[in-house]
Amino acid sequence: MTTITSTTLGINSELLIEKEEQFGAHNYHPLPAVIERGKGVYVWDVEDKRYYDFLSAYSAVNQGHCHPRIVNALVEQAQKLTLISRAFYNSELGPYEEYITQLFGYDKVLPMNTGVEAVETALKLCRKWAYEVKGTPQNQAKILFASGNFHGRTLSVISGSGDPSSRNGFGPYMPGWEMVPYNDLPALEKALQDPHVAGLLIEPIQGEAGVVVPDEHYLRCAYGLCKQNNVLFIGDEIQTGIARTGRMLACDHYGVKPDILILGKALSGGVLPVSAVLADDEVMMCIRPGEHGSTYGGNPLACAVATAALQVVIDEKLAENAERLGNLFRQALRDLQAENDLITLVRGKGLLNAIVINTDEDSDLAWDLCLRFRDNGLLAKPTHGNKIRLAPPLVITEAEIWDCVEIIRKSLREV
Ligand code: PLP
Repeated sequence: MTTITSTTLGINSELLIEKEEQFGAHNYHPLPAVIERGKGVYVWDVEDKRYYDFLSAYSAVNQGHCHPRIVNALVEQAQKLTLISRAFYNSELGPYEEYITQLFGYDKVLPMNTGVEAVETALKLCRKWAYEVKGTPQNQAKILFASGNFHGRTLSVISGSGDPSSRNGFGPYMPGWEMVPYNDLPALEKALQDPHVAGLLIEPIQGEAGVVVPDEHYLRCAYGLCKQNNVLFIGDEIQTGIARTGRMLACDHYGVKPDILILGKALSGGVLPVSAVLADDEVMMCIRPGEHGSTYGGNPLACAVATAALQVVIDEKLAENAERLGNLFRQALRDLQAENDLITLVRGKGLLNAIVINTDEDSDLAWDLCLRFRDNGLLAKPTHGNKIRLAPPLVITEAEIWDCVEIIRKSLREV
């Protein structure tokens, strides 16, 4: 493991890191920066050093940290009613359901909390649809996962992962999932010949894998193949959705409307865990009372927050900002690539971007570069060793983007 610092951390930071190391499970390997508060694109550590946040809580704070409208919605609703069991109706749920279904163009929504719960929900819906509508024999339904995917950490979801650190040591695995190579239409066409395949679960851009953008025609053709074979196209837009890639959904770039749409993360602007699954009646009505649910799913607090979070994205034209500044930012990164042979590849869409560092996945170089970024006032973290995701809150301005390009340039020179 790399040494922790490239500058001396403040005493408070060191103490707080020690506490996490001693008392917390070691299921993360954080970059050493101890964050205390955030506003917009900025966060401050416990020594009051300011940073640009270029991870945005894995794209959960697209609206910027502590957006006042979202926080107000939280506070106002928290003073009225936070949770009431779904054994009763509540005053926030219906209006939220109407708003989100109309916004995304679906008949119905099923509200959940974390992203992975929404993925589980989509998988359950797909199986139920296979048995009730498609006519798949009981317990024979298969769902295709794409290589390189990341859909979360539950046992069933990691059963469809190819990543050894997500998967190994947690068997036995869920049957009925099959892997197809990502961005490979002939392989998908072949897999779809199996009549028991009921769904394709796919990220339109693979965020955790290091912002892997498929070929321009891939998603549209994959969608077409699913339609031909009566297979549900399940779009996991937990990371790519809610304006991150320059459209409300990444699928919008390709003219594809998933049969089942999964949202999470920025659906609450980073304020609390809120996720959702959207589908039309043919799919959604396969689930009946008592067959699925969650104590917190659809709670009034989440409904108020999610409505405000979506309204902020629309009112502040965050998709348009992500599209415009994303284009400038990628061009600036490509100019840096031309100046510096540490960067081998720049890729992304909107403000979901990554640089691939000229080293293998086991090297510490990308980590060391992120330490330089930190010292120079920008937080980012490597994914899969040599890729660094660069995904600021979508409220960032053009002047701030240029400031960050300078930080990246300076850090590249220093490494
Ligand atoms: N799906 C995708 C595409 C993700 O990026 C993530 C999280 O990074 C998840 C699902 C899981 O979401 P959560 O961590 O909220 O369970």
